[in-house]
Amino acid sequence: MKIIAVGRNYAEHAKELNNPVPAVPVIFMKPDTAVLKDNKPFYHPDFSQEIHHEIEIVLKISKEGKHISEKFAGNYFEEIGLGVDFTARDLQQQHKEKGLPWELAKAFDNSAPISNFFSKSQFSDLYNLNFHLEVNDQTVQKGNTKDLIFSFERLIAFISQYITLKKGDLIFTGTPHGVGRVKIGDRLTGYLENEKLLDFEIK
Ligand code: ZN
Repeated sequence: MKIIAVGRNYAEHAKELNNPVPAVPVIFMKPDTAVLKDNKPFYHPDFSQEIHHEIEIVLKISKEGKHISEKFAGNYFEEIGLGVDFTARDLQQQHKEKGLPWELAKAFDNSAPISNFFSKSQFSDLYNLNFHLEVNDQTVQKGNTKDLIFSFERLIAFISQYITLKKGDLIFTGTPHGVGRVKIGDRLTGYLENEKLLDFEIK
């Protein structure tokens, strides 16, 4: 499986990092070795002094497709969950300044903690989903999918023009504002519609 992620899909987050709001989705990938499941602890790597949390809604692709039209894109995911797109912001910044790819800042081991997944049919409106992240019981990020710049269907249609989506692939759909640094000893809890789906420690 692969993880495809979108940067800058909430306008307020683009602004907080001084990035323009994009006209087309900004896409990057993480390898399968980035997945961290079952609320296992995240071991802070020593190559970065600034690992940021980014809480995101994650789609699980349910069947193979390429050149998927936006109209039918909803048929390609059945389940959603929560994930954290850990980002080595210091490395990302250095790479951005040099005009280099940010791969190492995004794709490192365990940089994609994910929750269990739930049938999308249990949510009455996919475009009015509240989600938030707490660090040590303080809310640091809060989002609602009504503020997405590119809808889930638009992302699937866009990505599948370039990259074949396969069953089990995950799409990280972007983070709302409030990203910030994690440190050893922090406890991260992620909620989707007030249901706690993520609960793990930074070690
Ligand atoms: Zn992200």
